[in-house]
Parts: sequence; C-alpha cells; structure tokens
Amino acid sequence: MDVKQFIRTIPDYPKEGIFFRDITTLLGDAEGFRSAVDALVQLHKGAKFDKVAGIEAHGFILGGAVAHQLGLGFVPVRKKGKLPWTTIGQEYDLEYGTDTVEIHSDAISAGDRILLIDDLIATGGTAEAAVKLFARAGGNVLAASFVIELSELGGRQRLEALDIEVLSLCAYE
Ligand code: IMP
Repeated sequence: MDVKQFIRTIPDYPKEGIFFRDITTLLGDAEGFRSAVDALVQLHKGAKFDKVAGIEAHGFILGGAVAHQLGLGFVPVRKKGKLPWTTIGQEYDLEYGTDTVEIHSDAISAGDRILLIDDLIATGGTAEAAVKLFARAGGNVLAASFVIELSELGGRQRLEALDIEVLSLCAYE
C-alpha cells in the first residue's frame, strides 16, 4: 500500500516555507485508514508489548486502533492540564519555547513494555519526552511507530540513541 497517496501536503502551513503533512485525508478514507492501521500492526506482529501509547491527538486515533488489533490496553499521552487524576509530566523544547506532555501516574505498571504511536516524527522531541515519561513511570518504550517520518530532522536518530526501534510507513525529506 502506498500510504503517501492518502496524505495531503499543504504548503506554507502553519508558516511560510513549511510543507505540512496532513493525515486527516488518510484517516477519512476507509481504505487509507484501515491499510495504515494494518501496516502499523504488521510491523509489530510477534513482538511482545504490554501497552500501546499514543500521543495527542492523532496518536490517539491510530494508537487506539492498533491497541485494539493487538489486544492491548491504550495509554493517552496528553498535553498539559487535560488529564483528571494525578499526573507526571515531561517538558520538552519547541522551536520557540517549551511544551509539556503528561500521563496518569498509574497509567502503566513497573516493567511494562510499551509501543509508542504517533502520526509523524519530525525532530523527535515530542516522542522523546513521552519516552522519558514512561521511563520515569517505571516502564520501557521498546518501539515507536509513525505513519510519517520527516527524515532530515533527525527524530529517528534521537530515539535510536535511546535504544528504541523506530519504524515508519513513509518518509519525506
Ligand atoms: P517533533 O516533536 O518535532 O518530532 O514533532 C512531532 C509532533 O508535531 C507530532 O505530534 C506531530 O503530530 C506534529 N507535527 C509536526 N510536523 C507536522 C506535520 O507536517 N504534519 C502533522 N503533524 C506534524
């Protein structure tokens, strides 16, 4: 399946010079959505995970479907202030300023092996923050999978340096 046929590229969004990769067109297409989820599941057939985690917001849609297929529970990694119970948070750098992701402090059990899912990896800063969060909660992200990898931004290398297997369905430069 050529996943790129379902992805829309929007030039100059959110600012000039950026090519924004829009997966709402993939999610909205029955064949595109199913094929992407099936492909993500296929990448991890046979691997042993205890939980699937997804990063807000597209990681919820994809990760939820992957968790369902793998028969595993799902953990949402949310932006700061959205979760109702006790949380642990991890700050990370943006191009301008910082942001924070959070999980519930009891979202995983000690030693849990986690598969992390998001729609896209760029610099890897968001995924790395999620990885650090799970490590602090006593778990271990073993693999991170994305529909799209922006290969020139170094996200893969950043996660691989933490011993995480990085997989993606397609790449753009
Ligand atoms: P990173 O932290 O630099 O790897 O950026 C990844 C995060 O930014 C992910 O949660 C993506 O959803 C979002 N993101 C960055 N660039 C794009 C894009 O071109 N399309 C869709 N999401 C993007």
